Amino acid sequence: MNPADESNIRDRVEANGCNGFVGFYSTLPSSGLSDAIAGLSTKVETQIFDRERIESYLLKGAEGLHVAKRYFPKSMTAWMGENPKPAKIFSTHPCLTCHHCGKDLLNPVPAGIIVIWQRRDIDGKKHVDTVYWCCKGNCDRRLGESQRGKGLIDGWEDIPDVAIPLVFAKWVMVTLNEFQAGDTYSPLAFDRLKEFILSIYPYVARHPTESEIERMEGLMRIPAALGGLGY
Ligand SMILES: [Zn+2]
Repeated sequence: MNPADESNIRDRVEANGCNGFVGFYSTLPSSGLSDAIAGLSTKVETQIFDRERIESYLLKGAEGLHVAKRYFPKSMTAWMGENPKPAKIFSTHPCLTCHHCGKDLLNPVPAGIIVIWQRRDIDGKKHVDTVYWCCKGNCDRRLGESQRGKGLIDGWEDIPDVAIPLVFAKWVMVTLNEFQAGDTYSPLAFDRLKEFILSIYPYVARHPTESEIERMEGLMRIPAALGGLGY
């Protein structure tokens, strides 16, 4: 975009009885045009939306995404594939807060680590004493200090890794195999494990269909012992 492409901005603003000028451009405005618009800003309000600014507004929130999906279906399918959003499984957005500083580790995208402290019993069986999640670095160190001296050894996984569908499936399988082999969890560690799995699950699941939502409502009404949902 050059000054010649956008001539007489001030005259056009005044002729239309307007107070400002907003330019929407699919390319970057040339420095000549940017200067011309900047020069006007003392007289009329000006704003420029170039392609990057337009894109960032569209991708910022649910409303923008809705518009983008409608008008740019091809580009959005590719973008959504590379920028997966958690599936709408539960009524609230999944959330895991750092056990040290309280930061939400799942927003805007998964970050941090899950740490598992365990000991080997004499019979070789593993007993998981503590499970928590936290930011990498300082929060991890501070929480680790409080566990030392208990005869426990720690293991950890990157939360973004566990949110990869195949890694998640593998991680759950390893945990189930360990239960089958006789490993045990403290009640707190077991509750935390369940909370973690449920929080990561929307990142590896798909949105339910309308008929599945209806079916789920039915299953929720049936007690777990009779085949309904429960955990
Ligand atoms: Zn933290």
